[in-house]
Amino acid sequence: MTKYYAEPFKIKMVEPIKMLTREERIEKIRNAHYNVFYLDSDDVYIDLLTDSGTGAMSANQWAGVMVGDEAYSGSRSYKNLMASAKDIFGYEYFQPVHQGRAAEKVVMPIFLHEGKVAISNMHFDTTRAHVELAGARAIDCVIPEALDTVNYHPFKGNMDIERLKKLIEEYGPENVGMIIITVTNNSAGGQPVSMDNIKKTSEIAKSYNIPVCIDAARYAENAYFIKNREDGYSDKSIKDIAREMFSYADLFTMSAKKDAIINMGGLVGVKNDPELFEVVKARTIPYEGFVSYGGLSGRDIEAMAIGLQEGTDFDYLKYRIGQMEYLAEKLDEAGIAYQSPVGGHAVFLDAKKLLPHIPYYEFPAQALAIELYIEAGIRSCDIGSYMMGNDPDTGEQIESEFEFTRLAVPRRVYTQSHLDVIVEALKAIKERKDTLKGYRITWEPEVLRHFTAKLEPLK
Ligand SMILES: *Cc1c(COP(=O)(O)O)cnc(C)c1O
Repeated sequence: MTKYYAEPFKIKMVEPIKMLTREERIEKIRNAHYNVFYLDSDDVYIDLLTDSGTGAMSANQWAGVMVGDEAYSGSRSYKNLMASAKDIFGYEYFQPVHQGRAAEKVVMPIFLHEGKVAISNMHFDTTRAHVELAGARAIDCVIPEALDTVNYHPFKGNMDIERLKKLIEEYGPENVGMIIITVTNNSAGGQPVSMDNIKKTSEIAKSYNIPVCIDAARYAENAYFIKNREDGYSDKSIKDIAREMFSYADLFTMSAKKDAIINMGGLVGVKNDPELFEVVKARTIPYEGFVSYGGLSGRDIEAMAIGLQEGTDFDYLKYRIGQMEYLAEKLDEAGIAYQSPVGGHAVFLDAKKLLPHIPYYEFPAQALAIELYIEAGIRSCDIGSYMMGNDPDTGEQIESEFEFTRLAVPRRVYTQSHLDVIVEALKAIKERKDTLKGYRITWEPEVLRHFTAKLEPLK
């Protein structure tokens, strides 16, 4: 029997959902131009589009919303956030912003411009966009094991250390504006990065005088994996592990919509460089608002201060990652491939393996996402060639290293029975997989096309 760790909470408030008929779903997805971002959420039964900002806040967080201090300056909620963040990350300076990409917009141009490169274990899509908007180029440098979705590796999110050194020499250390460590490595399948790898990356960066920035959206899930899988960490607390992780970086950008379990918010952290922090503040004020609120309401800031703490609770993380492990075991039984071992926030289905007859330029992972909606009203999304878009230099469709259909699981939202519905739908699709067709884009914007492009099925 597959183990399901029961929820370390009970349900105080519910939000009704319903499943439309199959005919209705076929019509809804056609009207949405076969782009899941155009679907109305009311037409979705289980929404696995993202784990970003979709978590359920706790009773404590809602209480925090009521006592949030909306003062323009010197707010009590801001002070609470500073104390909570310092306790977890061990840094001197923090700047709230309205979400992760706002942190990227504030930070990236400080280090990056035309002629520079950023090297990361893997850039998340908005991070890549902000590196490129700053005029620089984004280079991914994940270990080759990450590209093998079948064989076990405990830390598939790791930076390829040897290749990192080569890349720095090739581009010249003076041209590498920053090294970004994404924890967990979202685009590689929510895969963790080991402490040893963070430390080694940091040592190399230091030896070349290149700043290290952690893209920290899922820092707590990463810390949980380190505790479970890395020698020497099983007795350490999640917070101790998090503090050590961050000690190897100079700054971080964070979307608080993930592990901080709030619906909107972000944070920049600066370890101990007061001059850099002055620049961060100066760039925040025109884009995000005054330093003590950074694009957020006082109530959001209060909820973030509480959520940061709740997100590092061990029992919560065991249940949370346990949901992914439960899904993964059920998929193993059904013979459906995914990025294995399963990641922290999502199951990344290997659409290339399930649908080998659909080539990358006909978007197999998008085809699977559409089929999941038609089958059971489940909304997922493509993390593959469709999301990658076109090469900014040549305009050609990029062939992604993965064709993943991502089932991102919101925090504290769905139950074991919902997970069973997902597994049953995938089994049914597997039965008729050879009948699935690829897609063609009929319209697309220049950047981040997957949000708004329009598609049609191929005949
Ligand atoms: C979500 C995310 C971001 C961007 O954050 P938003 O809050 O969506 O703007 C950046 N990096 C990673 C790794 C993320 O998961």
